[in-house]
Amino acid sequence: MSQTYSINIHRLQADLQNLAKIGFDHETKGVNRIGFSRADYEGRLWLMKQFKALGLEPYMDGAANVICRLGDPDKPAVIMGSHTDSVPDGGMFDGALGVLCGLEVMRVIKEHSIDLTYPIEVVSFSEEEGRFGGMFGVQSFCGQIDPAWITSVQDTNGIYLKDEMQALGLEPLDALKACRAPETVKAYLEVHIEQGPVLEEMNCPIGVVEGITGVFDWSVCLIGEANHSGTTPMDKRRDAFMGLTKFAQQIPRIIEDHGSDISRITIGKVDVLPGFTHIVPGEVQFSLCVRDLDEGIMQNLAQACREVLSSIARQDNLMFEYEEKSWLSPKHCDPEIVKLLGDQAKKLGYQCNFMPSGAGHDAQFMTDLTKTGMIFVPSIGGISHSPKELTKWPDIEKGANLLLQACLSLAA
Ligand SMILES: [Zn+2]
Repeated sequence: MSQTYSINIHRLQADLQNLAKIGFDHETKGVNRIGFSRADYEGRLWLMKQFKALGLEPYMDGAANVICRLGDPDKPAVIMGSHTDSVPDGGMFDGALGVLCGLEVMRVIKEHSIDLTYPIEVVSFSEEEGRFGGMFGVQSFCGQIDPAWITSVQDTNGIYLKDEMQALGLEPLDALKACRAPETVKAYLEVHIEQGPVLEEMNCPIGVVEGITGVFDWSVCLIGEANHSGTTPMDKRRDAFMGLTKFAQQIPRIIEDHGSDISRITIGKVDVLPGFTHIVPGEVQFSLCVRDLDEGIMQNLAQACREVLSSIARQDNLMFEYEEKSWLSPKHCDPEIVKLLGDQAKKLGYQCNFMPSGAGHDAQFMTDLTKTGMIFVPSIGGISHSPKELTKWPDIEKGANLLLQACLSLAA
């Protein structure tokens, strides 16, 4: 019976366009709803208004997550969500899409008075984009937040989270009250733009996410000897930068020998010291970011990077040091929900691709709390975090319809 229902793309399109007006910059054409800014908060109030217009009672929890429930107040809920904050000059789909697809699904269920065995909830998690590092809203929701961090953390401009919250009339430590017990949640579903080129290149409208890749960050240092660039012969140098270039050249081979086809290794930031045109670089400090969906492969890649760096250091008479700044384990979507999404996509006649997510999402924390699934829709040109972010409306319609069917299978 569930196949007879479908979402209304015109309503969903209007919602996305209306929310995009909040925090819109007419010069850059970007959406600016940075976590806990005035515009972000306005976006949350706008969302609450949409739920109220349906005769529902949304609320903001202690972490400023906007939550609205339909159905039994006591049973565990099927949650649909994502985030409505943005990066500076972001696009209109990243995050907003998952929340507004949830709103549209709730509308369809309400207007057809569809009987639910389990209640459904829509959540807009706060501060997903990491202005303060981490994902404040969903971490609070999953009970993975430290009170000392809440009161001490600052953004890169030195602004405190607690001050931003207080300026909006929020009590920072109330975030601890946002924690949900696992028995209050039945499942979590999130629609999101892919933010990569895979689906568009395959001409495939739907991605079913199998997991969110783990990532570790190292701060690496190669130390040689600074010296005069004119008088030091080439074979007498201890040039730290040359050591770095040799390592960078080895990255494809490291992945080929120890990684998988979804491994990613990136050197994103390099400091060459002392950093002067006429001095042989005595030291390089660089970041190394490694991602994969398999923790064992991440460990193998770490070992291979260590070995290659040590061997280059030996050959080039350099010293090698590194510090592991963070290690986030890969998170897997629930196999039953992955299967359900694949089966429902097939029923709807949508081609779908099972794939990992290279980017972080609210869903990665939800995997610790409940059975989690994610639906990707294609990003044109693989572009996101940009005013140029774009997904075709027919693809959005398919993503939202798949969410509706999955939600009905889990809740009705
Ligand atoms: Zn996002």
